[in-house]
Amino acid sequence: MGYVFEPPGQATVEVFDSEDRFPVRRIFCVGRNYAAHAREMGADPNREPPFFFTKPADAVVDNNVSIPYPPQTKNLHYEAELVVAIGKHGCDITEADSLSHVWGYAIGNDLTRRDLQQQAREKGRPWDIGKAFDRSAIIGPVHPISKTGHLIQGKISLSVNGKIKQDADIADLIWSVSEIISILSHSIELHPGDLIMTGTPAGVGPLVDGDKCTVSIKGLGQIETKISQKA
Ligand code: MN
Repeated sequence: MGYVFEPPGQATVEVFDSEDRFPVRRIFCVGRNYAAHAREMGADPNREPPFFFTKPADAVVDNNVSIPYPPQTKNLHYEAELVVAIGKHGCDITEADSLSHVWGYAIGNDLTRRDLQQQAREKGRPWDIGKAFDRSAIIGPVHPISKTGHLIQGKISLSVNGKIKQDADIADLIWSVSEIISILSHSIELHPGDLIMTGTPAGVGPLVDGDKCTVSIKGLGQIETKISQKA
């Protein structure tokens, strides 16, 4: 058997301090998982069950890669997020067993065309065009848990051109990493290579041409992205 054209390459993200890369299967994202951010988006931050959306695996962008300002938007937003990298298959995973499915953690920036997302939201349409566009998932090197241990708390922050815009603690996640893995695995079979972006704290805002956006999480260092000038 052959292919009718050359199959696309495997999407991958870096592994910290390693030549190896982590193959990406799918990217799941949790919506409104910090109370203050839910409020700033006009939603009620009570503990309603978490909801998920996805990005294509090939939307990933490495740390320190410049990206062009994306098309069709006038309001590109940053979202600092803790990313969970799944290393073990499972479905109907119990909360107690959840963390044994984690291969490692990374820093993410869930780039969002906020104007298009909000239009979709108002019309009850899917978020894909606002959330799942090309180069919309900046994911830094994955740090294996053998080196970091599990991240239950620690500062998460984001700055634009050196000015702090988001400053929170991952202990403030409404739904914890172990709860998210368990809940998601009751709807979808998780596989090695799946990434989960766990949601962003309050303080989301715009990026414009020429901006330098830095995201930090305690224990994972920082990642940096430049929005390149339009050609
Ligand atoms: Mn997000």
